Amino acid sequence: MAIRIGIFGYGNLGKGIECAIKHNPDLELKAVFTRRNPDSVKILTEDVKVCSAEDASKWKDEIDVMILCGGSATDLPVQTPKLAEYFNVVDSFDTHARIPEHFEAVDEAAKKSGHVGMISVGWDPGMFSLNRLYANCILPGGHDYTFWGKGVSQGHSDAIRRIAGVKDARQYTIPVESALEAVRSGKNPELTTREKHTRECFVVAEEGADLKKIEEEIVTMPNYFADYDTTVHFISEEELQRDHAGIPHGGFVIRTGSTGWNDENKHVIEYSLKLDSNPEFTSSVLVAYARAAYRMNKEGQTGCKTVFDVAPAYLSAQDGAELRKHML
Ligand code: NAP
Repeated sequence: MAIRIGIFGYGNLGKGIECAIKHNPDLELKAVFTRRNPDSVKILTEDVKVCSAEDASKWKDEIDVMILCGGSATDLPVQTPKLAEYFNVVDSFDTHARIPEHFEAVDEAAKKSGHVGMISVGWDPGMFSLNRLYANCILPGGHDYTFWGKGVSQGHSDAIRRIAGVKDARQYTIPVESALEAVRSGKNPELTTREKHTRECFVVAEEGADLKKIEEEIVTMPNYFADYDTTVHFISEEELQRDHAGIPHGGFVIRTGSTGWNDENKHVIEYSLKLDSNPEFTSSVLVAYARAAYRMNKEGQTGCKTVFDVAPAYLSAQDGAELRKHML
């Protein structure tokens, strides 16, 4: 029998989950939940209902894993512990500094209800975290580097949109190629924020807006742009729609280290992602972890888990014998 999945929240990630389920025949979409009027939310799958978020608990016997697709800032800290009372849950909570407190809240709820609550699944946190951990275990005396991009940063794009005179904006984070090369060469450089990434902004201004003033406000914005070399391009609304409608992202996790009695041999471990669609890729990771959450719970595990707690074989639709034969 297929693993029955619910989607809670239908934005970019919610739609991405729907697409990912289509690619995984052992998973079945049971229902989509939204806080908006369900009639106003159109989904891709035929014969699946969009329901009110308030009715989710009524589905507790119909859904094996609820995948939470709300935002990290204010939705998931409330929604994940709440829904863990009724379901195994998986989320993509990505506010790194607040993961410990989110873990505690989900752990308490999931242990009490006897479910698995899998948090912070995606690519960062998620696949990048796993690769940082593996590399650290193998090269304990090494150096870690994470570069992000080229990709759209939603938070930085929002920050530009809040400036007076700005109609719309898209911000790309771009790794500095020379910094990447220095790291790959094993030089172990100490890199400042400015040396690792640049920021490129495409801005649609209101008619008659003071472009010089907007640019100045962007490049000097504390926390967001002041510590980076930032380029601002003013473009038309049509150009923004035509050339910048996608949500690409990616990046590199690199660890360099040495082995041998006198550290005479150098090693570089590199994991990289180049994603056309950040939400669709993140969703593909989430559904694999939903499979794991279901299996771990079936085996009697409860409480909050992260990608560090999941053995790789739990992620695969193939059984152990198949995996040993074809992938080991
Ligand atoms: P989003 O598109 O803004 O959707 C977030 C929520 O907004 C939806 O679940 C939806 O909930 C609500 N919403 C309200 N009005 C909407 C409308 N008109 N259209 C679409 N949604 C609407 O955000 P997202 O791109 O899916 O990302 C969600 C979170 O994923 C982000 O906050 C980020 O923290 C996280 N993330 C993590 C990773 C990672 O690697 N770990 C990667 C990417 C993203 P209702 O249906 O209930 O209204």
